[in-house]
Amino acid sequence: MIAEAEKILQTYYGFPSFRPGQKETISNILELNNTLAVMPTGGGKSICYQIPGMSLDGVAIIISPLISLMKDQVDALNSLGIAATYINSSLSTTEQQRRLQDIEARRYKFLYVAPERFESSYFIQMVKRLPIALVAFDEAHCISQWGHDFRPSYRSIVPNLKALSNIPVYVALTATATEEVISDIQNLLHVENEHVINTGFERDNLAFHIIKGKDKPSYIRSFLSERKNESGIIYTATRKQADALYDQLTAKGLSVAKYHAGMSEDQRKKSQAAFIQDEVLIMIATNAFGMGIDKSNVRYVIHYAMPMTIESYYQEAGRAGRDGEPSDCILLFSSQDIQLQKFLIEQSFMDEEAKRQEYRKLQAMINYCHTHSCLTSFILDYFNDAHVKKTCDRCSNCMHRTDQTDMTKEAQMILSCVKRMGERFGVSMTAKVLKGSNDKKVKDFKLNSISTYGILSNYTEKALTEWIHFMVAEKLLATEEGRYPTLKLNQESVDVLKGNRTVWMYSTVIPTGESADYQE
Ligand code: ADP
Repeated sequence: MIAEAEKILQTYYGFPSFRPGQKETISNILELNNTLAVMPTGGGKSICYQIPGMSLDGVAIIISPLISLMKDQVDALNSLGIAATYINSSLSTTEQQRRLQDIEARRYKFLYVAPERFESSYFIQMVKRLPIALVAFDEAHCISQWGHDFRPSYRSIVPNLKALSNIPVYVALTATATEEVISDIQNLLHVENEHVINTGFERDNLAFHIIKGKDKPSYIRSFLSERKNESGIIYTATRKQADALYDQLTAKGLSVAKYHAGMSEDQRKKSQAAFIQDEVLIMIATNAFGMGIDKSNVRYVIHYAMPMTIESYYQEAGRAGRDGEPSDCILLFSSQDIQLQKFLIEQSFMDEEAKRQEYRKLQAMINYCHTHSCLTSFILDYFNDAHVKKTCDRCSNCMHRTDQTDMTKEAQMILSCVKRMGERFGVSMTAKVLKGSNDKKVKDFKLNSISTYGILSNYTEKALTEWIHFMVAEKLLATEEGRYPTLKLNQESVDVLKGNRTVWMYSTVIPTGESADYQE
Protein backbone atom coordinates (compact mmCIF):
# COMPACT_ATOMS: atom_id res chain seq x y z
CA MET A 1 0.00 0.00 0.00
CA ILE A 2 2.81 2.37 0.82
CA ALA A 3 4.24 1.74 -2.64
CA GLU A 4 1.03 3.12 -4.08
CA ALA A 5 1.36 6.12 -1.78
CA GLU A 6 4.89 6.72 -3.01
CA LYS A 7 3.63 6.57 -6.56
CA ILE A 8 0.96 9.17 -5.80
CA LEU A 9 3.63 11.40 -4.23
CA GLN A 10 5.67 11.26 -7.40
CA THR A 11 2.98 11.36 -10.04
CA TYR A 12 0.54 13.84 -8.49
CA TYR A 13 2.83 16.03 -6.41
CA GLY A 14 6.10 15.55 -8.28
CA PHE A 15 8.14 14.99 -5.12
CA PRO A 16 10.80 12.26 -5.24
CA SER A 17 10.54 11.10 -1.63
CA PHE A 18 8.69 11.51 1.65
CA ARG A 19 9.76 13.90 4.33
CA PRO A 20 10.36 12.64 7.90
CA GLY A 21 7.20 11.26 9.44
CA GLN A 22 5.08 11.33 6.30
CA LYS A 23 5.53 7.69 5.36
CA GLU A 24 4.77 6.41 8.88
CA THR A 25 1.71 8.65 9.16
CA ILE A 26 0.38 7.56 5.79
CA SER A 27 0.90 3.83 6.44
CA ASN A 28 -0.84 4.12 9.79
CA ILE A 29 -3.83 5.75 8.20
CA LEU A 30 -3.94 3.26 5.34
CA GLU A 31 -4.05 0.49 7.97
CA LEU A 32 -7.02 2.36 9.48
CA ASN A 33 -5.32 3.20 12.75
CA ASN A 34 -6.34 6.49 14.28
CA THR A 35 -3.22 8.62 13.95
CA LEU A 36 -1.77 11.79 15.42
CA ALA A 37 0.99 13.50 13.45
CA VAL A 38 3.04 16.21 15.16
CA MET A 39 5.29 17.90 12.66
CA PRO A 40 6.79 21.36 12.46
CA THR A 41 5.20 24.05 10.36
CA GLY A 42 6.17 23.46 6.76
CA GLY A 43 6.85 19.81 7.55
CA GLY A 44 4.29 18.64 5.01
CA LYS A 45 1.24 17.67 7.03
CA SER A 46 -1.31 18.12 4.22
CA ILE A 47 0.12 15.30 2.16
CA CYS A 48 -0.24 13.00 5.17
CA TYR A 49 -4.03 12.98 4.87
CA GLN A 50 -4.32 13.83 1.18
CA ILE A 51 -2.53 10.74 -0.08
CA PRO A 52 -4.57 8.29 2.05
CA GLY A 53 -7.64 10.31 1.09
CA MET A 54 -6.93 9.48 -2.53
CA SER A 55 -6.15 5.82 -1.87
CA LEU A 56 -9.05 4.96 0.41
CA ASP A 57 -12.60 4.69 -0.89
CA GLY A 58 -15.04 7.42 0.00
CA VAL A 59 -14.85 11.10 0.83
CA ALA A 60 -12.06 12.49 2.99
CA ILE A 61 -13.42 15.14 5.36
CA ILE A 62 -10.93 17.68 6.65
CA ILE A 63 -12.06 19.79 9.56
CA SER A 64 -10.14 23.00 9.90
CA PRO A 65 -10.66 26.12 12.00
CA LEU A 66 -8.89 28.08 9.27
CA ILE A 67 -11.52 29.30 6.87
CA SER A 68 -8.96 31.49 5.14
CA LEU A 69 -6.88 28.49 4.16
CA MET A 70 -9.58 26.18 2.87
CA LYS A 71 -9.87 27.78 -0.53
CA ASP A 72 -6.11 27.58 -1.09
CA GLN A 73 -6.01 23.91 -0.13
CA VAL A 74 -8.95 23.12 -2.37
CA ASP A 75 -7.48 25.10 -5.28
CA ALA A 76 -4.19 23.26 -4.84
CA LEU A 77 -5.94 19.86 -4.97
CA ASN A 78 -8.04 20.90 -7.97
CA SER A 79 -4.91 21.98 -9.80
CA LEU A 80 -3.55 18.46 -9.27
CA GLY A 81 -6.71 17.16 -10.92
CA ILE A 82 -8.32 15.99 -7.68
CA ALA A 83 -11.99 16.78 -7.03
CA ALA A 84 -12.15 18.82 -3.83
CA THR A 85 -14.46 21.42 -2.36
CA TYR A 86 -15.09 23.32 0.82
CA ILE A 87 -18.10 24.58 2.70
CA ASN A 88 -17.89 27.46 5.12
CA SER A 89 -19.59 30.67 6.07
CA SER A 90 -17.80 32.64 3.34
CA LEU A 91 -20.16 31.05 0.77
CA SER A 92 -23.76 32.09 0.07
CA THR A 93 -26.49 29.74 1.26
CA THR A 94 -27.35 28.84 -2.32
CA GLU A 95 -23.73 27.99 -3.06
CA GLN A 96 -23.53 25.90 0.10
CA GLN A 97 -26.69 24.01 -0.96
CA ARG A 98 -25.27 23.42 -4.41
CA ARG A 99 -22.05 22.02 -3.01
CA LEU A 100 -23.92 19.79 -0.54
CA GLN A 101 -25.89 18.32 -3.44
CA ASP A 102 -22.69 17.68 -5.37
CA ILE A 103 -21.19 15.98 -2.34
CA GLU A 104 -24.29 13.77 -2.01
CA ALA A 105 -23.89 12.95 -5.68
CA ARG A 106 -20.35 11.75 -4.83
CA ARG A 107 -18.67 14.31 -7.07
CA TYR A 108 -15.88 15.09 -4.60
CA LYS A 109 -13.07 13.14 -3.04
CA PHE A 110 -12.14 15.84 -0.51
CA LEU A 111 -14.35 18.06 1.58
CA TYR A 112 -12.95 20.82 3.79
CA VAL A 113 -15.29 22.14 6.49
CA ALA A 114 -15.17 24.38 9.53
CA PRO A 115 -16.11 22.79 12.88
CA GLU A 116 -19.37 24.80 13.01
CA ARG A 117 -20.70 22.73 10.11
CA PHE A 118 -21.29 19.88 12.53
CA GLU A 119 -23.80 21.97 14.44
CA SER A 120 -26.20 21.28 11.56
CA SER A 121 -28.07 18.01 11.92
CA TYR A 122 -28.74 18.09 8.18
CA PHE A 123 -24.99 18.00 7.59
CA ILE A 124 -24.46 15.18 10.07
CA GLN A 125 -27.22 13.14 8.44
CA MET A 126 -25.56 13.67 5.09
CA VAL A 127 -22.18 12.53 6.42
CA LYS A 128 -23.94 9.47 7.82
CA ARG A 129 -25.16 8.53 4.35
CA LEU A 130 -21.81 9.00 2.61
CA PRO A 131 -19.00 6.52 2.23
CA ILE A 132 -16.19 8.13 4.22
CA ALA A 133 -12.46 7.58 3.65
CA LEU A 134 -11.21 9.42 6.73
CA VAL A 135 -11.86 12.38 8.96
CA ALA A 136 -8.87 14.64 9.56
CA PHE A 137 -8.54 17.32 12.24
CA ASP A 138 -6.17 19.98 11.00
CA GLU A 139 -4.62 22.25 13.65
CA ALA A 140 -5.65 19.56 16.11
CA HIS A 141 -4.27 21.38 19.16
CA CYS A 142 -7.40 23.55 18.90
CA ILE A 143 -9.50 20.62 20.12
CA SER A 144 -7.53 20.35 23.32
CA GLN A 145 -8.31 22.46 26.31
CA TRP A 146 -4.58 22.46 27.06
CA GLY A 147 -3.79 23.87 23.64
CA HIS A 148 -2.95 27.54 23.31
CA ASP A 149 -5.79 28.12 20.92
CA PHE A 150 -8.55 26.00 22.41
CA ARG A 151 -11.82 26.20 20.52
CA PRO A 152 -14.67 24.56 22.43
CA SER A 153 -16.76 24.24 19.25
CA TYR A 154 -13.96 22.14 17.77
CA ARG A 155 -13.96 19.76 20.70
CA SER A 156 -17.72 19.45 20.97
CA ILE A 157 -18.06 17.89 17.52
CA VAL A 158 -16.07 14.83 18.49
CA PRO A 159 -18.97 13.04 20.28
CA ASN A 160 -21.25 13.81 17.32
CA LEU A 161 -18.79 12.21 14.96
CA LYS A 162 -18.17 9.26 17.24
CA ALA A 163 -21.90 8.53 17.16
CA LEU A 164 -21.59 7.83 13.43
CA SER A 165 -20.54 4.33 12.51
CA ASN A 166 -19.18 4.98 9.04
CA ILE A 167 -15.91 6.74 9.84
CA PRO A 168 -13.10 4.24 9.40
CA VAL A 169 -10.24 6.34 10.70
CA TYR A 170 -9.42 9.63 12.41
CA VAL A 171 -6.34 11.70 11.73
CA ALA A 172 -5.12 14.60 13.88
CA LEU A 173 -2.39 16.96 12.72
CA THR A 174 -0.65 19.75 14.55
CA ALA A 175 2.63 21.63 14.68
CA THR A 176 2.32 22.46 18.34
CA ALA A 177 1.72 19.92 20.98
CA THR A 178 2.96 19.62 24.51
CA GLU A 179 2.64 16.29 26.29
CA GLU A 180 -0.69 17.37 27.79
CA VAL A 181 -2.09 18.27 24.38
CA ILE A 182 -0.84 15.05 22.83
CA SER A 183 -2.44 12.86 25.47
CA ASP A 184 -5.65 14.88 25.38
CA ILE A 185 -5.95 14.40 21.61
CA GLN A 186 -5.07 10.71 22.02
CA ASN A 187 -7.85 10.21 24.57
CA LEU A 188 -10.39 12.14 22.60
CA LEU A 189 -9.79 10.43 19.27
CA HIS A 190 -8.60 7.07 20.62
CA VAL A 191 -5.11 7.17 19.23
CA GLU A 192 -2.76 4.45 20.52
CA ASN A 193 0.76 5.46 21.58
CA GLU A 194 2.36 3.65 18.67
CA HIS A 195 0.25 5.69 16.27
CA VAL A 196 1.54 9.03 17.43
CA ILE A 197 4.10 10.24 14.92
CA ASN A 198 6.19 13.02 16.39
CA THR A 199 9.00 14.18 14.14
CA GLY A 200 10.30 16.71 16.59
CA PHE A 201 10.12 20.42 16.29
CA GLU A 202 13.48 21.64 15.24
CA ARG A 203 13.50 24.00 12.29
CA ASP A 204 17.14 24.28 11.53
CA ASN A 205 16.75 27.22 9.19
CA LEU A 206 15.39 29.46 11.96
CA ALA A 207 17.71 31.60 14.09
CA PHE A 208 16.19 32.85 17.35
CA HIS A 209 17.25 36.14 18.87
CA ILE A 210 16.36 38.02 22.03
CA ILE A 211 16.94 41.76 21.97
CA LYS A 212 16.79 43.71 25.22
CA GLY A 213 17.26 47.24 26.37
CA LYS A 214 16.71 48.84 22.98
CA ASP A 215 14.25 51.50 21.94
CA LYS A 216 11.86 49.23 20.06
CA PRO A 217 10.60 51.59 17.33
CA SER A 218 14.10 52.71 16.40
CA TYR A 219 15.38 49.12 16.49
CA ILE A 220 12.62 48.17 14.04
CA ARG A 221 13.37 51.10 11.76
CA SER A 222 17.05 50.30 11.53
CA PHE A 223 16.31 46.58 11.09
CA LEU A 224 13.91 47.30 8.26
CA SER A 225 16.36 49.61 6.54
CA GLU A 226 18.82 46.72 6.41
CA ARG A 227 16.29 44.20 5.14
CA LYS A 228 14.55 46.30 2.52
CA ASN A 229 13.63 43.67 -0.01
CA GLU A 230 12.55 40.95 2.37
CA SER A 231 9.13 39.96 3.55
CA GLY A 232 8.46 39.81 7.28
CA ILE A 233 5.85 39.88 10.03
CA ILE A 234 5.95 42.07 13.13
CA TYR A 235 3.70 40.74 15.87
CA THR A 236 2.50 43.10 18.58
CA ALA A 237 0.88 42.09 21.88
CA THR A 238 -2.18 44.32 21.48
CA ARG A 239 -4.21 46.05 18.76
CA LYS A 240 -3.18 49.39 20.20
CA GLN A 241 0.48 48.53 19.75
CA ALA A 242 -0.19 47.38 16.18
CA ASP A 243 -2.00 50.63 15.33
CA ALA A 244 0.72 52.76 16.90
CA LEU A 245 3.58 50.97 15.15
CA TYR A 246 1.70 51.00 11.86
CA ASP A 247 1.20 54.77 12.15
CA GLN A 248 4.83 55.38 13.09
CA LEU A 249 6.24 53.33 10.22
CA THR A 250 3.77 54.73 7.71
CA ALA A 251 4.71 58.24 8.83
CA LYS A 252 8.34 57.35 8.07
CA GLY A 253 7.29 56.52 4.52
CA LEU A 254 7.45 52.73 4.86
CA SER A 255 4.97 50.55 3.03
CA VAL A 256 3.42 48.28 5.64
CA ALA A 257 0.18 46.32 6.06
CA LYS A 258 -1.77 45.85 9.26
CA TYR A 259 -4.00 43.07 10.57
CA HIS A 260 -5.93 42.73 13.80
CA ALA A 261 -9.37 41.72 15.02
CA GLY A 262 -10.47 45.34 15.45
CA MET A 263 -10.48 45.85 11.68
CA SER A 264 -13.42 45.04 9.42
CA GLU A 265 -13.36 41.70 7.63
CA ASP A 266 -12.96 43.49 4.33
CA GLN A 267 -9.96 45.49 5.53
CA ARG A 268 -8.37 42.35 6.95
CA LYS A 269 -8.88 40.44 3.71
CA LYS A 270 -7.30 43.21 1.64
CA SER A 271 -4.40 43.53 4.00
CA GLN A 272 -3.73 39.81 4.03
CA ALA A 273 -3.97 39.54 0.24
CA ALA A 274 -1.53 42.44 -0.25
CA PHE A 275 0.97 40.69 2.01
CA ILE A 276 0.54 37.21 0.54
CA GLN A 277 0.94 38.57 -2.98
CA ASP A 278 4.09 40.51 -2.02
CA GLU A 279 2.49 43.88 -2.81
CA VAL A 280 3.43 44.92 0.72
CA LEU A 281 6.44 43.26 2.30
CA ILE A 282 5.86 44.03 5.97
CA MET A 283 2.87 42.93 8.00
CA ILE A 284 2.18 44.40 11.43
CA ALA A 285 -0.30 42.23 13.24
CA THR A 286 -1.63 40.81 16.45
CA ASN A 287 -1.91 37.06 16.94
CA ALA A 288 -5.21 37.26 15.01
CA PHE A 289 -3.06 37.05 11.92
CA GLY A 290 -1.45 34.07 10.49
CA MET A 291 -2.75 30.79 11.75
CA GLY A 292 -2.22 28.66 8.67
CA ILE A 293 -0.92 31.48 6.50
CA ASP A 294 0.97 29.63 3.84
CA LYS A 295 3.47 32.23 2.73
CA SER A 296 6.76 30.53 2.14
CA ASN A 297 9.18 33.46 1.76
CA VAL A 298 8.75 35.18 5.13
CA ARG A 299 12.38 35.99 6.05
CA TYR A 300 11.83 37.29 9.56
CA VAL A 301 9.23 37.38 12.31
CA ILE A 302 9.72 40.07 14.92
CA HIS A 303 7.81 40.01 18.19
CA TYR A 304 7.45 43.58 19.30
CA ALA A 305 6.67 42.35 22.79
CA MET A 306 6.96 39.05 24.59
CA PRO A 307 3.98 36.78 23.86
CA MET A 308 2.18 34.85 26.58
CA THR A 309 3.40 31.32 25.94
CA ILE A 310 6.21 29.44 24.23
CA GLU A 311 3.56 27.52 22.28
CA SER A 312 2.18 30.63 20.66
CA TYR A 313 5.65 32.11 20.25
CA TYR A 314 6.98 29.08 18.42
CA GLN A 315 3.94 28.90 16.21
CA GLU A 316 4.03 32.59 15.29
CA ALA A 317 7.81 32.74 14.90
CA GLY A 318 7.57 29.54 12.87
CA ARG A 319 5.78 31.40 10.09
CA ALA A 320 9.25 32.48 9.02
CA GLY A 321 11.17 30.35 6.57
CA ARG A 322 8.61 27.82 5.46
CA ASP A 323 10.63 27.48 2.27
CA GLY A 324 13.56 26.15 4.29
CA GLU A 325 15.76 29.23 3.68
CA PRO A 326 17.58 30.84 6.64
CA SER A 327 15.24 33.20 8.51
CA ASP A 328 15.28 35.18 11.74
CA CYS A 329 12.89 35.11 14.68
CA ILE A 330 13.48 38.12 16.88
CA LEU A 331 11.87 38.84 20.22
CA LEU A 332 12.13 42.39 21.55
CA PHE A 333 11.88 42.05 25.29
CA SER A 334 11.20 44.69 27.88
CA SER A 335 10.21 44.16 31.49
CA GLN A 336 6.90 45.96 30.87
CA ASP A 337 5.96 42.99 28.64
CA ILE A 338 5.63 40.81 31.73
CA GLN A 339 3.19 43.25 33.35
CA LEU A 340 1.17 43.46 30.15
CA GLN A 341 0.81 39.68 29.85
CA LYS A 342 -0.19 39.39 33.51
CA PHE A 343 -2.76 42.08 32.96
CA LEU A 344 -4.14 40.17 29.95
CA ILE A 345 -4.41 36.98 32.01
CA GLU A 346 -6.19 38.83 34.82
CA GLN A 347 -8.60 40.44 32.35
CA SER A 348 -9.54 37.16 30.72
CA PHE A 349 -12.57 35.15 31.71
CA MET A 350 -10.60 32.08 32.68
CA ASP A 351 -11.33 30.29 35.92
CA GLU A 352 -8.67 30.14 38.62
CA GLU A 353 -7.24 26.81 37.50
CA ALA A 354 -6.93 27.97 33.89
CA LYS A 355 -5.26 31.17 35.06
CA ARG A 356 -2.79 29.19 37.09
CA GLN A 357 -1.92 27.20 33.95
CA GLU A 358 -1.44 30.41 31.99
CA TYR A 359 0.86 31.83 34.65
CA ARG A 360 2.91 28.64 34.52
CA LYS A 361 3.25 28.99 30.76
CA LEU A 362 4.01 32.69 31.07
CA GLN A 363 6.84 31.89 33.50
CA ALA A 364 8.39 29.58 30.90
CA MET A 365 8.19 32.40 28.37
CA ILE A 366 9.85 34.79 30.83
CA ASN A 367 12.56 32.20 31.42
CA TYR A 368 13.13 31.96 27.67
CA CYS A 369 13.80 35.70 27.62
CA HIS A 370 16.39 35.38 30.39
CA THR A 371 18.17 32.11 29.83
CA HIS A 372 21.81 32.03 28.80
CA SER A 373 21.41 28.60 27.26
CA CYS A 374 20.85 27.96 23.58
CA LEU A 375 17.42 29.35 22.66
CA THR A 376 16.67 26.56 20.20
CA SER A 377 17.46 23.94 22.84
CA PHE A 378 15.35 25.80 25.38
CA ILE A 379 12.31 25.63 23.08
CA LEU A 380 12.89 22.00 22.15
CA ASP A 381 13.28 21.06 25.83
CA TYR A 382 10.03 22.86 26.57
CA PHE A 383 8.25 20.58 24.10
CA ASN A 384 10.13 17.57 25.48
CA ASP A 385 11.69 17.13 22.11
CA ALA A 386 14.38 14.49 22.30
CA HIS A 387 17.04 16.52 20.50
CA VAL A 388 20.68 15.76 20.96
CA LYS A 389 22.51 19.02 20.35
CA LYS A 390 22.82 21.43 23.27
CA THR A 391 23.81 24.35 21.07
CA CYS A 392 22.42 25.43 17.72
CA ASP A 393 25.26 27.83 16.89
CA ARG A 394 22.85 30.29 15.34
CA CYS A 395 20.66 31.78 18.10
CA SER A 396 21.61 35.04 19.82
CA ASN A 397 22.84 33.23 22.93
CA CYS A 398 25.03 30.84 20.92
CA MET A 399 26.32 33.67 18.73
CA HIS A 400 27.29 35.93 21.59
CA ARG A 401 29.16 33.43 23.66
CA THR A 402 32.36 35.03 24.71
CA ASP A 403 34.29 34.74 27.92
CA GLN A 404 32.47 33.49 30.93
CA THR A 405 32.78 35.27 34.23
CA ASP A 406 32.43 33.67 37.62
CA MET A 407 29.54 35.45 39.32
CA THR A 408 29.04 33.00 42.16
CA LYS A 409 29.57 35.59 44.89
CA GLU A 410 26.89 37.90 43.57
CA ALA A 411 24.54 34.94 43.04
CA GLN A 412 25.10 33.94 46.68
CA MET A 413 24.20 37.47 47.78
CA ILE A 414 20.97 37.32 45.82
CA LEU A 415 20.10 33.92 47.28
CA SER A 416 20.91 35.03 50.83
CA CYS A 417 18.68 38.01 50.34
CA VAL A 418 15.78 35.81 49.17
CA LYS A 419 16.29 33.67 52.26
CA ARG A 420 16.46 36.63 54.64
CA MET A 421 13.30 38.03 53.14
CA GLY A 422 11.61 34.84 54.27
CA GLU A 423 11.00 33.55 50.72
CA ARG A 424 7.83 35.60 50.76
CA PHE A 425 8.50 38.16 48.03
CA GLY A 426 8.82 38.36 44.28
CA VAL A 427 11.43 39.56 41.80
CA SER A 428 10.88 43.30 41.98
CA MET A 429 10.79 43.57 45.78
CA THR A 430 13.96 41.47 46.03
CA ALA A 431 15.69 43.72 43.49
CA LYS A 432 14.67 46.77 45.54
CA VAL A 433 16.10 45.30 48.74
CA LEU A 434 19.38 44.30 47.05
CA LYS A 435 19.65 47.81 45.66
CA GLY A 436 18.84 49.39 49.01
CA SER A 437 15.81 51.23 47.69
CA ASN A 438 13.91 53.81 49.74
CA ASP A 439 10.62 52.43 48.44
CA LYS A 440 7.80 52.77 50.95
CA LYS A 441 6.87 49.09 50.72
CA VAL A 442 10.42 48.04 51.58
CA LYS A 443 10.15 50.11 54.76
CA ASP A 444 6.62 48.94 55.53
CA PHE A 445 7.85 45.35 55.57
CA LYS A 446 10.96 46.46 57.52
CA LEU A 447 13.13 44.96 54.81
CA ASN A 448 15.56 47.86 55.16
CA SER A 449 16.73 46.40 58.42
CA ILE A 450 17.84 43.00 57.12
CA SER A 451 21.55 42.38 56.58
CA THR A 452 21.33 42.00 52.81
CA TYR A 453 19.63 45.37 52.32
CA GLY A 454 21.68 47.34 49.78
CA ILE A 455 24.23 44.53 49.44
CA LEU A 456 24.36 44.98 45.65
CA SER A 457 23.74 48.72 45.55
CA ASN A 458 26.38 49.19 42.84
CA TYR A 459 23.96 47.68 40.31
CA THR A 460 20.77 49.31 39.07
CA GLU A 461 17.43 47.92 40.16
CA LYS A 462 16.75 47.05 36.54
CA ALA A 463 19.99 45.09 36.26
CA LEU A 464 19.24 43.24 39.48
CA THR A 465 15.76 42.39 38.18
CA GLU A 466 17.32 40.95 35.03
CA TRP A 467 19.74 39.00 37.13
CA ILE A 468 17.10 37.42 39.32
CA HIS A 469 15.14 36.47 36.21
CA PHE A 470 18.29 34.85 34.85
CA MET A 471 18.67 32.82 38.04
CA VAL A 472 15.06 31.64 37.80
CA ALA A 473 15.52 30.79 34.11
CA GLU A 474 18.62 28.76 34.92
CA LYS A 475 16.73 27.05 37.77
CA LEU A 476 19.10 28.43 40.41
CA LEU A 477 16.05 29.86 42.16
CA ALA A 478 12.49 28.62 42.23
CA THR A 479 9.40 30.70 41.67
CA GLU A 480 5.77 30.00 42.32
CA GLU A 481 3.01 30.35 39.76
CA GLY A 482 0.59 33.18 39.94
CA ARG A 483 0.23 36.87 39.47
CA TYR A 484 2.73 37.74 42.20
CA PRO A 485 5.07 34.77 42.21
CA THR A 486 7.32 34.55 45.25
CA LEU A 487 10.92 33.47 45.04
CA LYS A 488 12.01 30.33 46.87
CA LEU A 489 15.27 28.53 47.29
CA ASN A 490 15.69 25.08 45.75
CA GLN A 491 18.38 22.43 45.90
CA GLU A 492 20.44 24.27 43.29
CA SER A 493 20.27 27.44 45.39
CA VAL A 494 21.53 25.54 48.40
CA ASP A 495 24.42 24.15 46.31
CA VAL A 496 25.34 27.67 45.19
CA LEU A 497 25.10 29.01 48.75
CA LYS A 498 27.32 26.21 50.06
CA GLY A 499 29.88 26.94 47.39
CA ASN A 500 29.35 23.56 45.72
CA ARG A 501 28.31 25.15 42.47
CA THR A 502 29.77 27.95 40.40
CA VAL A 503 27.52 30.41 38.61
CA TRP A 504 28.91 31.46 35.26
CA MET A 505 27.58 34.29 33.21
CA TYR A 506 28.54 35.22 29.72
CA SER A 507 30.23 38.57 29.96
CA THR A 508 28.10 40.02 27.16
CA VAL A 509 24.99 39.46 29.20
CA ILE A 510 26.08 40.41 32.70
CA PRO A 511 23.59 43.11 33.59
CA THR A 512 25.32 46.43 33.97
CA GLY A 513 22.19 48.43 34.32
CA GLU A 514 23.41 50.70 31.58
CA SER A 515 20.89 49.48 29.04
CA ALA A 516 18.60 52.22 27.88
CA ASP A 517 15.16 52.38 29.31
CA TYR A 518 12.79 53.41 26.63
CA GLN A 519 9.34 54.74 26.06
CA GLU A 520 6.81 52.64 24.17
P1 ADP B 1 2.41 22.04 7.04
O1 ADP B 1 0.91 21.93 6.87
O2 ADP B 1 3.00 20.91 7.78
O3 ADP B 1 2.85 23.36 7.57
P2 ADP B 1 2.38 21.79 4.19
O4 ADP B 1 1.58 20.56 4.11
O5 ADP B 1 1.73 23.07 3.83
O6 ADP B 1 3.07 21.94 5.61
O7 ADP B 1 3.70 21.59 3.32
C1 ADP B 1 4.70 22.58 3.27
C2 ADP B 1 5.38 22.57 1.92
O8 ADP B 1 6.17 21.41 1.77
C3 ADP B 1 4.38 22.57 0.77
O9 ADP B 1 4.83 23.48 -0.20
C4 ADP B 1 4.44 21.14 0.28
O10 ADP B 1 4.12 21.05 -1.10
C5 ADP B 1 5.88 20.75 0.54
N1 ADP B 1 6.07 19.29 0.72
C6 ADP B 1 5.30 18.46 1.45
N2 ADP B 1 5.77 17.19 1.40
C7 ADP B 1 6.86 17.22 0.62
C8 ADP B 1 7.81 16.21 0.17
N3 ADP B 1 7.70 14.94 0.54
N4 ADP B 1 8.80 16.61 -0.65
C9 ADP B 1 8.93 17.91 -1.01
N5 ADP B 1 8.09 18.89 -0.63
C10 ADP B 1 7.07 18.56 0.17
